[in-house]
Amino acid sequence: MFNSLSDRLTETLDALRGKGKLTEADIAHAMRDIRMALLEADVNFKVVKDFVAKTRERCMTAEVLESLTPAQNVVKIVLDELTELLGATESKLVLSNRIPNVIMLVGLQGSGKTTAAAKLAYLLKKQGKSPLLAACDVYRPAAADQLATLGAEIGVPVFKGDGTHPVAIAQGAVREAVDTMKNVVIVDTAGRLQIDEAMMAEAVEIKRAVKPDQVLMVVDAMTGQDIVNVVTTFAERTDFDGVIISKLDGDARGGGALSVRAVTGKPIKFASVGEKPDALEVFSPERMAKRILGMGDVIGIIEKAQEMADAEQMAAAERMLREGFTMTDMLEQMRSVRKMGGMSKILSMLPGGQKALQQFGGAMDESIFDRNEAMILSMTKAERDRPGIINGQRRARIARGSGTTPADVNTLMKQWGEMNKMFGRMRSMANDMAGSKKNK
Ligand code: GDP
Repeated sequence: MFNSLSDRLTETLDALRGKGKLTEADIAHAMRDIRMALLEADVNFKVVKDFVAKTRERCMTAEVLESLTPAQNVVKIVLDELTELLGATESKLVLSNRIPNVIMLVGLQGSGKTTAAAKLAYLLKKQGKSPLLAACDVYRPAAADQLATLGAEIGVPVFKGDGTHPVAIAQGAVREAVDTMKNVVIVDTAGRLQIDEAMMAEAVEIKRAVKPDQVLMVVDAMTGQDIVNVVTTFAERTDFDGVIISKLDGDARGGGALSVRAVTGKPIKFASVGEKPDALEVFSPERMAKRILGMGDVIGIIEKAQEMADAEQMAAAERMLREGFTMTDMLEQMRSVRKMGGMSKILSMLPGGQKALQQFGGAMDESIFDRNEAMILSMTKAERDRPGIINGQRRARIARGSGTTPADVNTLMKQWGEMNKMFGRMRSMANDMAGSKKNK
């Protein structure tokens, strides 16, 4: 998502950075580029117009033009305005004290509603809530079955009721939640390919019947200019408290995602970035703006790592420092990178990473993990614990056993060697620190 927009904005800002002093003409030129880039990304034209006008006005001041670092100021202003456009600050999901809380999802068919319902349930479950999913999309063939499958996958019950009357199903789900001590009900409603009156009327009726604490609209990030019609109709009829922007991992231009906040005035609360149940992120305007401007999302990486770092991993890190880094540790590390979404995902979050990724044709070759894993699994326990003993003969055997070549085993050994050296350095640093404390 946003790849070409990101490239163009980064290019424009880089060109300014190369200039030192800036004239009004330079700013005007940059603003024209930004305007074109946003329009080509299919951002709503009125949103573009307002955005560029505001940004230009802030940049064309004596304070910016005559400062010692004008280009940096301009970059900062563009970042600020982009963050503002995306909603300024994170908007958390607000749950009330009512039991059960009811969250209702609305949106067009295919927008990603059903999967978003499951993802949200999974996220809330991880936060200690006990959700129940209500399958009120009775028109799309297999929607209820899809929800049931997803529910089984994440260990969240799904209430299907009679499978024909959406309002009754929603009400039944709320009763079921009370009976089975669930504290959040997530209602998946029906969508049509286009907005139609019957669908809207039904959504309004479900809303009246179960009085949701939060109505969230799921918007497909691939929606371009059309987004204005879709969201304004929903805003008028069902109203909603926030947006889940889905398919942000896709390669669409992203205009809808960039316009939705400005068009509706409603915050984007979550971003869906994949088909799996864990692919739902709390939306952060600042982090998204930084990613679009090629400044990377280092915080995102740290959070992902923190999410996964449990006590067991901390203990493993300590052991590695004490006893050295084994091939088994290396295998674990590779598996963690995979769990975080693979090298491509991590790279795409680093500053300049989007661009670097394009050099790999949009994705890195993750098959290296398979090869490395096969090699490590072909080693004996002694070899894994003390890779230093792996000589030429052992290398040939490991290559044969894993369907790789001795050269592949060499590469792996080199990688392990580097890691082991790094742990060695950290160990001596830790020892030095401990020693200097003792001497005090
Ligand atoms: P609904 O008709 O609104 O309930 O839409 P679904 O939840 O069935 O989603 C429609 C299709 O989009 C499915 O194939 C989903 O797997 C896919 N999908 C939904 N959200 C995402 C996402 O964030 N990323 C990607 N890549 N696919 C998604």
